[in-house]
Amino acid sequence: MMNEPVLDNFWMPFTANRQFKAAPRLLASAEGMYYTDVDGNRVLDGTAGLWCCNAGHGRRKISEAVERQLSTLDFAPTFQMGHPVAFDFAAKLAEIAPGGPDNRLDRVFFTGSGSESVDTALKIAIAYQRAIGQGTRTRIIGREKGYHGVGFGGISVGGLVNNRRMFPQILADHMRHTLDVERNAYSKGLPAHGVELADDLERLVQLHGAETIAAVIVEPMSGSAGVILPPKGYLEKLRATADKHGILLIFDEVITGFGRLGTPFATDYFGVVPDLVTTAKGLTNGAIPMGAVFAGRKVYDGLMVGAENAIELFHGYTYSGHPVACAAGIATLGIYEDEGLLTRATELADHWQEALHSLKGSPHVVDIRNLGLVGAIELVPRDGAPGTRAYDVFVDCFKRGLLIRVTGDIIALSPPLIVEKSQIDDIVSTIGEALKRAA
Ligand code: PMP
Repeated sequence: MMNEPVLDNFWMPFTANRQFKAAPRLLASAEGMYYTDVDGNRVLDGTAGLWCCNAGHGRRKISEAVERQLSTLDFAPTFQMGHPVAFDFAAKLAEIAPGGPDNRLDRVFFTGSGSESVDTALKIAIAYQRAIGQGTRTRIIGREKGYHGVGFGGISVGGLVNNRRMFPQILADHMRHTLDVERNAYSKGLPAHGVELADDLERLVQLHGAETIAAVIVEPMSGSAGVILPPKGYLEKLRATADKHGILLIFDEVITGFGRLGTPFATDYFGVVPDLVTTAKGLTNGAIPMGAVFAGRKVYDGLMVGAENAIELFHGYTYSGHPVACAAGIATLGIYEDEGLLTRATELADHWQEALHSLKGSPHVVDIRNLGLVGAIELVPRDGAPGTRAYDVFVDCFKRGLLIRVTGDIIALSPPLIVEKSQIDDIVSTIGEALKRAA
């Protein structure tokens, strides 16, 4: 065992942190599909870190690129100057950007995280509307159960109650003139889980007036709410409604980006092209914090070409296009390409589906969902103590060498895209055994 860390100095003010302190789990190293904890136990990664490490862990190409970049150009600002690494990375991203040859979102804005990407996309949407003479469009419509990070922008448009409940007045005061939050009722929890849920967007437009609404933001497949899949035709309907009313459509692809569904982006998987796409996580394989927003020519040109008002958009981070993050990103894209990882989820999807659904009928299981290399196993909540049963399963799995993620009573799975079929079987059998032991 390494030196005992002092657990109070590193401050993580989340509910989950209480559980962690009660039973610290400390990961010390990682390689391929496995973590090793501080006691030397191997832990199979069923979650790609936190939906990040699509190419698995300890990738030398990435660490070497990072080291090279650090010793060549450790930092350079991207205000009034630039550096070739950022342009190179943006050009490489443009080649695989969401969309088809005629509508590719090949203009890239770099950020430092998913939350920053969301803030950036919201600000771009409002600034674009203003630049094209639609200055009254300041509202953003989010979605029930949507998760868009923890910045004020993201929690304003997000729909997870936990994320917002402490701040209602602050959000309203702070955001009234920039983000006026309305949420529609898209939710898997409803039996009428259907395409008609997209009609709620039309209802909100009628209620508030199209002339007040800049954009609608959704995760094409929501992750943090417990892997909620969009009904067939739902995203198409959102797109059509947004188009009809001059509203921009933003897809938050922080978790679905970079091959999670078997295509580079969920945009490609569903064949519905939004106006802006937010990303992070898999962009650098989680190795260096970074995010990116993809925009189409319509938005980019509207905002940047000859629009006087666009000058009012003051936006950009110290670390936008950080050279070391860009170097990590370029190396990551190289691995994705060399190993065919952006489409690997498609090859594994059948095996993944079959393996997951073999848990049907296991104790406590009420629903199993899957898409690409994403899975969700929903459990019956324990009477009076929601979330505790799934948490017990998580602890049991960890002790037996498997990392899963639980969100409420839902087990969410997203292994690195390098996963082998035998490792998929290991993931499922460990969970199956844990479910049998769970009270
Ligand atoms: N959007 C979505 C869809 C996410 O899943 C997340 C993170 N899980 C974020 C935004 C926020 O990203 P970050 O934690 O990097 O700020």
